[in-house]
Parts: sequence; C-alpha cells; structure tokens
Amino acid sequence: MMVPSERALHEAIQVSPLDLPDDVKRQKIENLLAQMRLSAATARKIQDVFRSEMNKGIHQQPSSLQMENTYIPELPDGTEEGLFLALDLGGTNFRVLLLELVNGVVVREDVKKYHIDAHLRTGSGMPLFEYLAECVSNFVISEGLQDVELPLGFTFSFPMIQHSLETGILVTWTKSFNCPDVVNKDAVQLLKDAIARRGDTRVNVLAVLNDTTGTLLQGATQDPNTAIGLILGTGSNACYLERADKVEHWEPERHGEREVIIDIEWGAFGDNGVLDFIKTDFDRENDANSLLVNSFTFEKYISGKYLGEFVRVILAKLSKDGLLFTRQVPESLLLVGSFLTDYISLIEQDTVNGSSVHTKEVLAKFNIIPDEEDLKIVQYVCELASNRAALLVSICVATLLDHMEREEVTIAVDGSLYKHHPRFENWMNQYITLLTPARKFKLIHAQDGSGKGAAIVAAIALRIKKRLE
Ligand code: ADP
Ligand code: MG
Repeated sequence: MMVPSERALHEAIQVSPLDLPDDVKRQKIENLLAQMRLSAATARKIQDVFRSEMNKGIHQQPSSLQMENTYIPELPDGTEEGLFLALDLGGTNFRVLLLELVNGVVVREDVKKYHIDAHLRTGSGMPLFEYLAECVSNFVISEGLQDVELPLGFTFSFPMIQHSLETGILVTWTKSFNCPDVVNKDAVQLLKDAIARRGDTRVNVLAVLNDTTGTLLQGATQDPNTAIGLILGTGSNACYLERADKVEHWEPERHGEREVIIDIEWGAFGDNGVLDFIKTDFDRENDANSLLVNSFTFEKYISGKYLGEFVRVILAKLSKDGLLFTRQVPESLLLVGSFLTDYISLIEQDTVNGSSVHTKEVLAKFNIIPDEEDLKIVQYVCELASNRAALLVSICVATLLDHMEREEVTIAVDGSLYKHHPRFENWMNQYITLLTPARKFKLIHAQDGSGKGAAIVAAIALRIKKRLE
C-alpha cells in the first residue's frame, strides 16, 4: 500500500496517456515509451542516490558529484560599491563587462561581445589567453580606464578544481573548447600572466567562478533568501550555500567563515553508473550520438544541448517502427542534432494551448506533412521528455532543500530552457512542493548571473581582502 502523500506524488508526476482512437497503435507506442515514465518510488530512489552522492562528494570520497568548494564565503550585503570588470567565458559568447555597483546593485553596465575563432578554441592555450587579455585591454582602453585600478571577476564556466577564490584548475574542457595543454592548469594564472605581459592596463583578477555561482550571487541581490543557484541552459548545474563546518576540503587558512558556496557540478551526476536504473534505450542512443560519450549523464537527461536530440531519437524510432509518419520515414529526421530543444518549447506551447500550429511549423522544417495522429504523438513525446527533465531537476532540488534545512530558500535560476519552455517552471513548483511539502521555497529568475555575478564576486573578494589586511 502506498501512503496517501506518495499516491498524490505518484499521480502528479504521471503524464496523461496518449489519446489515440487506434488502440493497438496506442498500446504499441505506450509500451515503447513506458521506460521514460518515473514512479514515485523511482523518484524517491533517485533522491536517495543523489543524497548519498552529495555526502560522499563533500566527504572527499569517490562520487559522481564533485561538490567543489568555491571559497565564496559570503553573499552580497548591499554595501558593494565601485567599478568592476567581469569576463564571461563558456557561455554562448565571450563577453567583457564593466559594471558599476551602488549599494550592491548594478546601476550601469557596458558590455562588449568578442568572437573567439575556432582555431583559438582548439589547439594550444597560449594564443587563447593572449586573445582574452587583448580583449580586456581593448575594452578597458575604449572605456578610457587604462590608468584606473580595476578589480576583475572571471566567470569560467568549465569544471575546475579550486584551491582558493582565485585559482581555478581546469578539469576538462567542455562545449566547443578544447585546448589540451590547459587541462590541469590554473586558468586564473594564465589570464593574469597574459594581462601582465601586455602591461597596458591596471586590471586585477581577484576571483574565479562559474555561471551557476554567479547566478546564486545575482539572485541574492534580488532576494536575500537566495541560497541555491541553478542553470538550465545549454548545460545544467547547481550550487548552494553550505555550512562551512560541514566542508572538509578547505585549503587556505580559515577565518571564521560560517558558510560557503558549494558547486555541485551535477551535470556529471550518474557518470559512475549510479543512475543507470533510469536509463532508457533512447538515452543510450542520445549518449552515443554526443561528443563526450559516457559522461555528463544527468545533463543529457535534462539540458538544452541534449533534450532536442533525445526527442529526435524517439521520433525516429517510432517512425522506423511504422508508428509515426507512416507514409515514409523522413530522411531529414534521421540527421543527428537536427531537432533543437527550442522546437520542444514551441510544441509544448501547442499542448498548453490545445493547438497544433507550432507543431506543424516545426515538422515543416523536416518536410513532414503530419496527419492528426502524428501531431498528437509528436506532442506526446515532447511532453514526456520535458516532463521527465523537469521532474529530475525537481527531485535533486527537493533533496538539496532537505539537506540544507533552512527556514526558507529562494532558488535563483537562469538559462534559456527554463526561460523559454512554457511548462518547466510550473512543473518544478508543483513537483518540489510534493516531494518536500514542509520546505518553503521560491523560484526566481536571475538575469545574467555569469556577467553580474562576476562583478559581485570581485566586490566580495575585495571586501574580504581589505578585512584581512
Ligand atoms: P548558455 O547556456 O550558453 O549560457 P542559454 O542559457 O541561453 O546559454 O542556453 C542556450 C541553450 O538553451 C541552447 O543551446 C538551447 O539548447 C536551449 N534553448 C534555446 N532556446 C530555447 C527555447 N526556446 N526553449 C528551450 N530551450 C532553448
Ligand atoms: Mg549561460
């Protein structure tokens, strides 16, 4: 017997069955897609696994969760003032920003985007960092600030090991970057050296962070209860405020810190096999079609870079099995990477509206003219895939809330998947509440944490530095 609250959870997380007149076809499709449905019991099992991996990570035991100490021991307190530079590397664009903070709030922002050529993104790291330094000089000089001492926060959104607030040893490149000689090196030192070699500005690199941490910090300026940062964009990751006494790995001398931000690096959750019990045939194929096979297991279940391909794999399978687009298997749909996550948002908008306008538009890109049943099936697949992603994120967030044991937690979220998918936020609110009914939480959208967050962390670093002098 299921306890009533578990029954409510179980029912809430079930997507309604496919509504088709043809019972045999409907049953065949349901049978194929059943592997994507998660029961309440499975959700609880994922929670147990996530909790256990977090604990192992924080105690320096082998785990798929890195639980990295960011050495950011405090949040903005509203006293941050002055001009700060921010560098944002690892998102869609490389950006240099100048931000003016007054009372902890960004009052002015100048931004310049720079293109990084493919030959700089792959190959030796030296020319890449020379180029980053060149962009910094170019920007600072164009602002007429070459003689002003400028603290800089460096958003470096790649997995790194930190020995302090201003070291970031690259663990591995991801996304479109691959300069092998930088792996195991300190990206901050490389940047500092390149800036020093030029010697044409007075830029002072004070801190390194990633977009997830930046999102938490930016969220904290919007809502002081912010204690979790969450990214749902190309990739996915989360960070949270941990009690400093629980954190064993702490290299520099402690100075009575009470809290610190821990970067979970949950994109890799399950890379050691602990999540294999939810892996479907479609996930295996999605993984095989990806650039970094057998890694970023959790990210491949949920994030923008992979969700579209996941849906494409399913649609292609249904089509090959004669259950979808029965007139012919559309060649265009067999192309790996052709189905963007943006399309899922459009199709889900149709499901919300009870329409099929966008679905038809998307399918037209593949030269498919669907019949009524095709439309229903495509919408159903997008719903199942999106729903599972939102549920998985909610499961981890709920577990984190239980772990943190705070009165009230605001979760700062950024990323295009969260911003543009029409149902993600609603599902997350609903599922987190059902998974951990006693916890008070709020989801807020923190805009541009990778830019503003970097300025804020530089301001915090400066404050700590002055205090210790
Ligand atoms: P980044 O992660 O590079 O910092 P974003 O947060 O903007 O940038 O995320 C971009 C990713 O979000 C794209 O790669 C794509 O997978 C996904 N995405 C973009 N637009 C949408 C959309 N309308 N709906 C869902 N996902 C989207
Ligand atoms: Mg981003």
